[in-house]
Amino acid sequence: MSEFHRDCKSPDGHRGTCKECHRAIIREWKRSNREKVRGYDKKYKESHKKEANEYKKEWHKKNPGKKTEYGRVYRDRHPDKYIAHQAVKYALREGQLIKQPCGCGCVEVEAHHEDYSKPLEVVWICRPCHRKYHRRK
Ligand SMILES: [Zn+2]
Ligand SMILES: [Zn+2]
Repeated sequence: MSEFHRDCKSPDGHRGTCKECHRAIIREWKRSNREKVRGYDKKYKESHKKEANEYKKEWHKKNPGKKTEYGRVYRDRHPDKYIAHQAVKYALREGQLIKQPCGCGCVEVEAHHEDYSKPLEVVWICRPCHRKYHRRK
């Protein structure tokens, strides 16, 4: 327990490091991801420009007035995850789920699903602990 407890603190035991780490991780992730996405996007667009336009036209014909859905790719690839995350979001808003602090004491938590078919059975865990948890698996 005490070992787990130390995870989210800096070696000198100060509180709040987790938040800092969290920010740094997100910044790093965003930066590397943005470049990747951009590069991918460009290549993809160049080779599929025509098809994409055709697709768009078709799509708008079938769905008049609707905007293109950005979450589509993610949803298609991970429908179970997508549904689970939507369910958690909704349940949080409705007060059916309440965020709990992580086992290490961090209050900045995210939902971990043991089983995506049970979208409301979540474990609240902070990002550093979450990463460690999945790396161990
Ligand atoms: Zn998880
Ligand atoms: Zn934690």
